[in-house]
Amino acid sequence: MRKLASIQKIKSLEPIEGADAIEKAQVLGWQLVVKKGEFKIGDFCVYCEIDCIMPNKPEYAFLEPRKMRIKTVKLRGQVSQGICFPLSVLPKEVPISEDLDVTEILGVIKYEPPIPASLEGTMKGRFPSFIPKTDETRVQILQEFLDQHKGEKCYITEKLDGSSVTYFIKDGEFGVCSRNLELIEDDKNSMWQLARELDIENQLRLLNKNYALQAEIVGEGIQKNTLKLRGQTVFFFNIFDIDAYKYLDFKEFVSLMETLKLKTVPIIEEEYLLENDINLLVEKSIGKSLINPKGWREGIVIRSHKEQFIGGERFSFKAVNPKFLLKYDG
Ligand code: ATP
Ligand code: MN
Repeated sequence: MRKLASIQKIKSLEPIEGADAIEKAQVLGWQLVVKKGEFKIGDFCVYCEIDCIMPNKPEYAFLEPRKMRIKTVKLRGQVSQGICFPLSVLPKEVPISEDLDVTEILGVIKYEPPIPASLEGTMKGRFPSFIPKTDETRVQILQEFLDQHKGEKCYITEKLDGSSVTYFIKDGEFGVCSRNLELIEDDKNSMWQLARELDIENQLRLLNKNYALQAEIVGEGIQKNTLKLRGQTVFFFNIFDIDAYKYLDFKEFVSLMETLKLKTVPIIEEEYLLENDINLLVEKSIGKSLINPKGWREGIVIRSHKEQFIGGERFSFKAVNPKFLLKYDG
């Protein structure tokens, strides 16, 4: 689970050229601007990630113009992601220990973009428990993991800013799910429309397997459609074998997608040996989209060729393009 607000150490502090009231701090793998002199290296602080919605309290009043949401900003040329608050924002009885999740204690909630009508649908049931929901961890909290898996053979895909959709067949029953729900068939719902257009149900039946296909639906009316697409379409990023409870490895995934004539998310690098430098990976996320080279891509997703769960977590994570966030995350 993502810790929106947690107790963290100030890892480093550096001056920002031309600025004397602020300086650059590093917390976890995040870079952010703090008031000069407010913290020393090694101090604990309450670090709140981007997408926190802070409660309506005097100490957070400066966020009112931004509807209390913490966003990626640029100050004196320095990209700043997240905010460090002093420990005094915590109630006195909270034990100060590194990495403690204080999201609930502070009353912080997560910003969620609104769901467009064409995707909302009518609930048939909860998201099936036999398929993992789609999610990606942010690279900024993965230093230890990167150190452990440096050199692993990975591939990099473009992260698309749409909405997650899951198509599955289990024991003869076909289903369509949005990020969190299974949906009743409805020809006004884009996810169902695309299922029919792409003949996904019949194709899945022919495979004679219990499989889930997971994709990002993008296009007109979805998020900000920053790629300026016409219509709506799906780009796939997972095939999950329900009975084996595992994802297909990269090569198998790509080859089955070809067979099914379904598009994968754009593949940026087929072979990438993992490096353990968070700043470098964030730099790597900066680039134009392969779908529409006029726009920034939202980011990248890095995965190992060979699928693996490590301590229950999939070997897969994202680096979101800060330039995309500065431009579109309004
Ligand atoms: P957070 O967990 O950081 O709060 P979030 O849960 O809203 O944010 P996203 O930022 O949307 O997650 O990132 C994860 C989602 O990205 C996945 O659920 C999936 O729908 C989508 N996605 C888009 N492109 C890809 C891709 N190339 N590979 C994997 N997932 C992708
Ligand atoms: Mn998530």
